[in-house]
Amino acid sequence: MTAITQAQIEMLISLQNIELNKIEVKKTLDTVATKVAQLENELKTFSDAVEREKQKLRDSQARYAEFEDHIQTNDTLIAKIEEKRRSVKTEREYQSLLKEEEQLRARKSQIEEEMIACIDLMEATTQAIATKDEELQQIQQQVADDIQSVKQEASASETRHADLTREWETMATDIDARLLDKFVKVKNQTDDGRALAPARDAICMACHMNIPPQMYNELQRFDSLKLCPFCFRILYWDNASGA
Ligand SMILES: [Zn+2]
Repeated sequence: MTAITQAQIEMLISLQNIELNKIEVKKTLDTVATKVAQLENELKTFSDAVEREKQKLRDSQARYAEFEDHIQTNDTLIAKIEEKRRSVKTEREYQSLLKEEEQLRARKSQIEEEMIACIDLMEATTQAIATKDEELQQIQQQVADDIQSVKQEASASETRHADLTREWETMATDIDARLLDKFVKVKNQTDDGRALAPARDAICMACHMNIPPQMYNELQRFDSLKLCPFCFRILYWDNASGA
């Protein structure tokens, strides 16, 4: 059984108040972190879109280079056929070469058409990249400005958080180590950071359950530390109701 005095309870109440203030400040800071992450995410979505356009341009350039290779191969084949045609012996052979050459020339003009389409696409993509790059720069600037102002707003909260932490630590040194340890353990088990629960009219004000009469009597005598049997917070008798 951990002994407890009214003075100690009062210190724990102060400690809890600091804790609750810290939680509020922390919420503000978390909101800031979320805002910054959102802004960075928007920026990333946009720069990814620009990167996709750039990739598209690189793909078109590679395709264009392939077309150029095809044209070259095609030209070489045509030149060879023309060479052969000069030394053919029969009309039939001549006609066959002529037909082959026609096919190669048809293929060449097909490739050339594809190259023109490819050039159009590269021009359009280059234009799109230029426009998007410009937009990206504006957005980058905007996001940087927004992040800076959000962080400036946060800086006051950070200072406040650090002050509260120091205040907490200073106060904690004045509290009995075992009691503090218990307080911290209970606090860490709650989801709202409230380790203490006032008891009024035999009711735990945290969980609103009835406290057994004997326990409530003992609470009023401050003889030992007691946990609410329902929410497991540290109970203290709060006579604010005028009892
Ligand atoms: Zn309770």
